[in-house]
Amino acid sequence: MNHIKSIKGTHDILPEESRKWQNLESIIKDTCAKFGYQEIRTPIFEDTNLFLRSVGEETDIVSKEMYTWEDKDGTSLTLRPELTASVARSYIQNNLGGKSPIQRLYYIGPLFRRERPQKGRQRQFHQFGIEAFGSSHPEQEAEIIALAWHILLKSGLENNTKLYLNSIGSKDCRIKYRDALKKFIRPHLNKLSKPSLQRFETNPLRILDTKNKDEQMLLKGAPKISNYYSNSDFEHFESVKHFLETMHIPYTINSALVRGLDYYTKTVFEFTSETLGAQNALIGGGRYDGLIETLGAKSTPGVGFAAGMERFLIAMTDLDKKENRFKPDIYFICIDEKGLPIILQIANQLRSNGYKAIFDPLRRSMKAQLREANKSGARYALILGENEMNNDSIIFKDLNDSTQKNVLQTNVINFFDNLTN
Ligand code: AMP
Repeated sequence: MNHIKSIKGTHDILPEESRKWQNLESIIKDTCAKFGYQEIRTPIFEDTNLFLRSVGEETDIVSKEMYTWEDKDGTSLTLRPELTASVARSYIQNNLGGKSPIQRLYYIGPLFRRERPQKGRQRQFHQFGIEAFGSSHPEQEAEIIALAWHILLKSGLENNTKLYLNSIGSKDCRIKYRDALKKFIRPHLNKLSKPSLQRFETNPLRILDTKNKDEQMLLKGAPKISNYYSNSDFEHFESVKHFLETMHIPYTINSALVRGLDYYTKTVFEFTSETLGAQNALIGGGRYDGLIETLGAKSTPGVGFAAGMERFLIAMTDLDKKENRFKPDIYFICIDEKGLPIILQIANQLRSNGYKAIFDPLRRSMKAQLREANKSGARYALILGENEMNNDSIIFKDLNDSTQKNVLQTNVINFFDNLTN
């Protein structure tokens, strides 16, 4: 007799793997708690209308990928293909907005999409995500991007991921831009692929998302959405960028980033990981001020993101393999041997407080030590020179962005504790 196998595109998580899942889950839970986000758990299946209304009938998810069936009483039910719609439904149904003007929620759970399985793409997969309802201000985007960034830092993925940022403006801006984009594309319709031709009618902005190289070339000359922002769209986006800069979160503007789902407005973003190959999107999110209204309730602004857990784990495992070596948190650079007792003492204190700290016992030049610090994979360097010895301080250098500042020697532990919390 043939053994029954798991369904194509689904996977067992065996004990060896589940350890990694639990590790990632605790990173997510700890980080969300630090930012004041609370967990919400919603059912795995919902009324199909929820996804038709919110995600939109012309999206790939709704038109091709949902697991939908008719229940015995004739209701159409669907295994959830994403979680923002379910969380929004719950927010409305349980009047969470009435309980507090700002609701910070996070979720972890399985989703179902009938896609072609490949590395990083499954039919049952897991996402964690957050949704913040109630604020229309740019600091809300800054907060959730910072939360995502913290999770990436804790997972060790910050150097292998890139944050792409764009604003798709508010509704009016998009209507005007859509017309301009259609006008630009219309003379080239005969060169478009079938999916893009379809999008030309249903959702032309999504053509910008194309992976087709010829279409990407053609679109280089297309009008830019930034020329259609209203003053408030423009100012909102400038503030988001400014807040990210003040938090030292690096980003790249990508005007082709539009996100797959229809309910996004203004800020959209994506974190991609270079180790993932074709399916390189790790986290996707943005502002969706229109969503709650689309579901028939009082208009409420919202911002959120969703992250693929399988992809996180692949990226973390790849990184582990690549960097299967000791990687310190802090690398000491001592310019004068008279400083050695000081750095030995601070390094030991740091180790007692849980940090991995090393120094250079070869008494090499400052330049050579700095090169070694970068090579070691350490995130930070502490540099002790003559000036610092004279005033009991030490230079702290962030090796990621090269920013540096003076810290009192007696305050180093405190300083790192504040930095990493
Ligand atoms: P989306 O809900 O499509 O915006 O996707 C958000 C994140 O979920 C993506 O960035 C991926 O990390 C992950 N993801 C989406 N679809 C799949 C899938 N079929 N299999 C595994 N992960 C996925």
